[in-house]
Amino acid sequence: MIENFFSIDGKLLKLAQQAEVEAQEAFAQIEENSAYNEAKVLKAFIDNRVSESHFAGSTGYGYGDRGREALDAVFAQALGAEDALVRHNFVSGTHALTTALFGVLRAGDTMVSITGKPYDTMEEVIGIRGEGNGSLKDFGVSYRQVDLLENGEPDYDRIPEVVKGAKVVYLQRSRGYSLRPSFTIEVIGKMIAAARSTNPDAIVVVDNCYGEFVEKKEPLAVGADLIIGSLIKNPGGGIAETGGYIAGRKDLVELCSYRLTCPGMGKEVGCTLGQSRSMFMGLFFAPSVVANALKTSCFALKLFELLGFEVYPKCGDPRTDIIAAIQLGTPEGLVAFCQGIQKGSPVDAFVAPEPWDMPGYDSEVIMAAGAFTLGASIELSADAPLKEPYAVWLQGGLTYASGKTGILLAAQSMLEKGLLKL
Ligand SMILES: *Cc1c(COP(=O)(O)O)cnc(C)c1O
Repeated sequence: MIENFFSIDGKLLKLAQQAEVEAQEAFAQIEENSAYNEAKVLKAFIDNRVSESHFAGSTGYGYGDRGREALDAVFAQALGAEDALVRHNFVSGTHALTTALFGVLRAGDTMVSITGKPYDTMEEVIGIRGEGNGSLKDFGVSYRQVDLLENGEPDYDRIPEVVKGAKVVYLQRSRGYSLRPSFTIEVIGKMIAAARSTNPDAIVVVDNCYGEFVEKKEPLAVGADLIIGSLIKNPGGGIAETGGYIAGRKDLVELCSYRLTCPGMGKEVGCTLGQSRSMFMGLFFAPSVVANALKTSCFALKLFELLGFEVYPKCGDPRTDIIAAIQLGTPEGLVAFCQGIQKGSPVDAFVAPEPWDMPGYDSEVIMAAGAFTLGASIELSADAPLKEPYAVWLQGGLTYASGKTGILLAAQSMLEKGLLKL
């Protein structure tokens, strides 16, 4: 098996076997969920009469691009939305989120985050950091947040008071790069209900990054108005080369499209340059690829728990995103782990990542990413800031067996540096 091609310590292989046995129940749940979502996505393709002619790319203005229109419709149905805006022109998840917020907010409006501090890159967009850069704050939109409780749970008591009068209520589903829990669809539903108790008309916007197809439902099913994500994460299935989506209420998606292109034109323009086929195909693969990423994640969580480390979440915990965090405890541990992951990547396996001073971070960061698509975190990847609590964040895995190999090489790399006890 793996040991035919890679040298891995015998005791580590034994432990891996035990981890896999103990993960079986969680794997069965992941596969059941994936089967449901694969059927849901297939039905969306069939109902919308996807045809080979939809894959032809348009140029210039892209008027009447039937593929673009069908792609929006298939995504909308798969995500339980009235409408969707799926475009390769979104350069990242942050860009899609920014388009949505500028699309629906106006000067004098207020936005309230009810899941505490949003993802790092959103701080400059909102205006929490930076000045005079064209943030929402620069355009007269105020911001408040309801911090999470000490244990990372939502503060249901304060949500109703703080959201009063807000135009947008904002939630982030995934833990991102923090150790707080990710919020399941059930918890998101409870938070939205708490917000609507005092502000029934608020536009509820959910940062859905890393969450798509992990559960059977998306946040639109429990009261969200708009969900937003990146195509180099879950819904691109490892095949979309770039892009993002905004999905939800038709009138709001239209406002967002006016921001992406221009008022009056909206969704009716935008050439696809031959990108449609990979976005269709990526969506088709997405539930299955998400399942492989989840199984890889579950295996890593179980193995490193058996090795004596704190892991977030536990392998058997209900999942709502593909992110796992492992507290390795030392900077040397983080470096060895990330170098091991890189050694197990299909692309650039021969380079050894080193910590560096990345712009925008207050400590050195090390990253392992040997991906077909630059920065794609639906592919096996790991990132760690070299600071307390010395945790590594791990995500992706296009196929389970290759993901498992990457995790074993990470453990082997730590073992060779004397950083593991077996
Ligand atoms: C990845 C991510 C984003 C967007 O990041 P990009 O790198 O701009 O695609 C936003 N929020 C969360 C929670 C994320 O995980």
